[in-house]
Amino acid sequence: MSRIVMKFGGTSVGSTERIRNVAKRIMGETAKGHEIVVVVSAMGKTTDELVRLAEDLSAEPSKREMDMLLSTGEQVTIALLTMALIHMGQEAVSFTGWQARIETESVHRNARIEFIDTSRMEQALKEGKVVVVAGFQGVDAAGEITTLGRGGSDTTAVAIGASLHADQCDIYTDVDGVYTSDPRFVEGARKLQELSYDEMLELANLGAGVLHPRAVEFAKNFGMPLSVRSSLTEEPGTVLLEEPTMEKNLVVRGVAFEPEIVRLTIGYKVPFNGSLAKIFTTLAKHHVNVDIIVQSIMDGTQPSVSFSIKKVDFAETIQVLESNKDELGYQSSNFEVGLSKVSIVGSGMVSNPGVAAQMFDRLRKEGIPVKMVSTSEIKVSVVIPESDMMKATNALHDEFNLASIRV
Ligand code: ADP
Ligand code: ASP
Ligand code: MG
Repeated sequence: MSRIVMKFGGTSVGSTERIRNVAKRIMGETAKGHEIVVVVSAMGKTTDELVRLAEDLSAEPSKREMDMLLSTGEQVTIALLTMALIHMGQEAVSFTGWQARIETESVHRNARIEFIDTSRMEQALKEGKVVVVAGFQGVDAAGEITTLGRGGSDTTAVAIGASLHADQCDIYTDVDGVYTSDPRFVEGARKLQELSYDEMLELANLGAGVLHPRAVEFAKNFGMPLSVRSSLTEEPGTVLLEEPTMEKNLVVRGVAFEPEIVRLTIGYKVPFNGSLAKIFTTLAKHHVNVDIIVQSIMDGTQPSVSFSIKKVDFAETIQVLESNKDELGYQSSNFEVGLSKVSIVGSGMVSNPGVAAQMFDRLRKEGIPVKMVSTSEIKVSVVIPESDMMKATNALHDEFNLASIRV
């Protein structure tokens, strides 16, 4: 007997018909004698619709009330799925985030899970029940409902898996695995059989929406075997592990892309000892996530620092900079919108020094201007015009022969 966490995303529970299929799939596992905890998302596009309703009423809705609102989506699914299971003869019980005792930090809309008191889930499992938990939500120390950020149900699943010492965690979704790039937009994208946690973490952080980055972090930290597979077919999917043994010949294993990037540049008249730390500490205090940072100090030119952020953080960043201008001591600031980030990821890069050069060369041949660059041992990211984002993604997918993987 194994203990398994099964997570089903929005599309997979998008109708009562699909919920019934999910229930059947779960019963296929309980029939094998496994203990099952299920984590579900809101049905279909429910979360998007709730966001739209809120924005209809306020351009900047209260974050607390947003969590109150968005958490309702998952609550609908847990009740319906549990009803379906009971109707089919499977004992089951649904829990919201707070009933499952998923404690998070006190941050609305993007909270981190801090602790899970598993006693209630353990008790239900002992009673032979399938435990159905609402993804994406938790509760803080003051009893306030929090949510984990868009796509956060994946993180609920892996965190529960780690806390309950599950043997594996399976993420069932509308694709049958992790692909070399988003198969919805890149025609030649191929399914990968295996991927390391580190590669997946980079891809997820760099825009591949198939997994929530924190879910991958949890899986890595707890050594939790994690797979991504289809809720509609029996295909084995993609397995995440420490060190892949398949597709070892691939230097680059994936291309990720992210639209809506903004570049800000801050100029100083005088050299700015310590100012760099001041800017980024101030932005961090306001929870502004800064990505790529480029500092330039050249003889004869005004020193400057450029950094990239997501467009959603733009208004707040400007406001923070403006209201702290004296303390930060800068003279000029400007920005460039309409940018995107395209990244190549693969652990093989560590031992293949020419990869970045090959990437830049291909982008040059495609006539795509590179505005910023950032590298790590296993990835290279470039900031380029948003209008070139898909062209660059497809060109790099081709450049590193990703469409030729045997499947
Ligand atoms: P769910 O609702 O099940 O959580 P998501 O929409 O969050 O599903 O994630 C699945 C989607 O992720 C796919 O439909 C696909 O378009 C997108 N995606 C982005 N990058 C990749 C990738 N590299 N491999 C597979 N899917 C990807
Ligand atoms: N329902 C939430 C969202 O759409 C969480 C999730 O699906 O993972 O972002
Ligand atoms: Mg998702």
